[in-house]
Amino acid sequence: MNPTVFHPLGGGQPSDRGWLTGDVTFEVKKVLESNGVIVLYGKLIDGELVEGMDVTQELDWDRRYYVMRLHTAGHVIDRAVSDILGHNVETLGALHGPPKAYVEYGASMDDSLLEEIERKANEFLDGRRVIVTEVSREELPKRIYGAPNPGRLPEMGTYRIVEIEGVNAIPCSGTHVRNTSEIGRIQILGLEEVEGGARLFYDVKQVT
Ligand SMILES: [Zn+2]
Repeated sequence: MNPTVFHPLGGGQPSDRGWLTGDVTFEVKKVLESNGVIVLYGKLIDGELVEGMDVTQELDWDRRYYVMRLHTAGHVIDRAVSDILGHNVETLGALHGPPKAYVEYGASMDDSLLEEIERKANEFLDGRRVIVTEVSREELPKRIYGAPNPGRLPEMGTYRIVEIEGVNAIPCSGTHVRNTSEIGRIQILGLEEVEGGARLFYDVKQVT
């Protein structure tokens, strides 16, 4: 379990940023997990770090909330791509955050599909709930749908599933918004060829 409020780099999420404050001011710039230990990297601004000292953890919430919107948007785009290509498409990798969010799909695509994928993805931003649950290994196959890589899951006792109502239910450890209406608007920015498929760049914009 992560004893900090900071999400480490991994599972398609960029690492959180923030501050430790109290008798010390430490700017958290990067968070990595190594053998189950969460390590905060950053810059000591003031004071001294002492083992066992009390600190207040402060998340760079604007950045985290942007990442949450991007991550949920990534799951929505998974569904849109599968709908447009007519079959469930495997994902090869993803980064749901700055500097530039993308998902890589194991299918060849060309620019002519981008507009259609964007239109389809935005159709799902009509106020759908995002529900996070934990299920057992036995239950898992019955509870997921539209998940890109069900065959590639590591062996675990319990699995965390992120369901976007009527869109898909995907095993995922990332941070998400509660409702697709919080995403705003999805923009598909472009396509880059990668080995075995295509990398789709995207962004989310606040609707005013
Ligand atoms: Zn995810």
